[in-house]
Amino acid sequence: MRVLILGGTTEASDLAHLLAEDRRFEMTLSLAGRTSNPRTQPIPTRIGGFGGIDGLAAWLTQEAIEAVVDATHPYAVQISSNVVAACGRLAIPLATIVRPAWQPRPGDAWLGVASAEAAADALGPEPRRVFLSLGRLELGAFANSPHHHYIARTIDPPDDIALPPDLRLIFGRGPFDAQAEATLLQQERIDVLVSKNSGGAATYAKIEATRRLGIPVVMIARPHKLRGHALENAGSAVSWLEQELAHRTAPCSARGV
Ligand code: NAP
Repeated sequence: MRVLILGGTTEASDLAHLLAEDRRFEMTLSLAGRTSNPRTQPIPTRIGGFGGIDGLAAWLTQEAIEAVVDATHPYAVQISSNVVAACGRLAIPLATIVRPAWQPRPGDAWLGVASAEAAADALGPEPRRVFLSLGRLELGAFANSPHHHYIARTIDPPDDIALPPDLRLIFGRGPFDAQAEATLLQQERIDVLVSKNSGGAATYAKIEATRRLGIPVVMIARPHKLRGHALENAGSAVSWLEQELAHRTAPCSARGV
């Protein structure tokens, strides 16, 4: 069965590794191309946008894709909307890995906001030392709050966008360690962290570190994301694909056709 995984996440990479040697499936992983040096994957990988719903539908048809697993990030709403539309149009089975959000625990001090712009406003009028754990494309939202000192951690340098004047970049890609995160926050005398609620283990260490140090978090809420059949993780995606394969290869009589 020919399968497309929409990736750019740990779950997509986990699924690629789980099925790389499985002859029942011909897998292709798709990445948006946001990072200059993506992790090497054990299955064929294509990189770059498809060109909206029509481009994606044309690609799925050309590649004779029979099932799609959307394993994109909880904040990647456009590609998920596109794949729901394209798979609906072509009647291709679609499942979406829905990574559970982090929940506040005792000792956490989270302020929920709706967007990066709202996070910048929520930092307030007094200058603060702010740690931005966001994608490079979101940093521009803080240009309108230039009175804070920012440290921003991204995977790649931001493109040519307006940034706040007092911003220092550090580069890193998860998984991170809670003790190292606490040390970083202390060394930089951080007053507040700005984060998305990405969920998962790879980037949770910073949240643990803020709890340990009593540092507040401005948490950007998850957007509404369209989805297919909801799955918890890469393991459940394997089970779903096996069911789709069984359904596809079952004799007509067994399917009641
Ligand atoms: P997005 O806003 O939902 O998508 C914007 C456009 O990028 C899409 O319309 C599509 O272009 C292209 N695209 C996105 N994901 C793609 C994929 N897996 N394969 C091919 N094209 C893709 O997405 P985003 O928030 O910019 O995220 C881009 C990628 O980074 C995703 O793969 C996501 O899983 C990963 N990521 C995102 C975040 C985040 O916070 N947003 C965090 C970590 C990882 P066309 O319309 O031309 O097809």
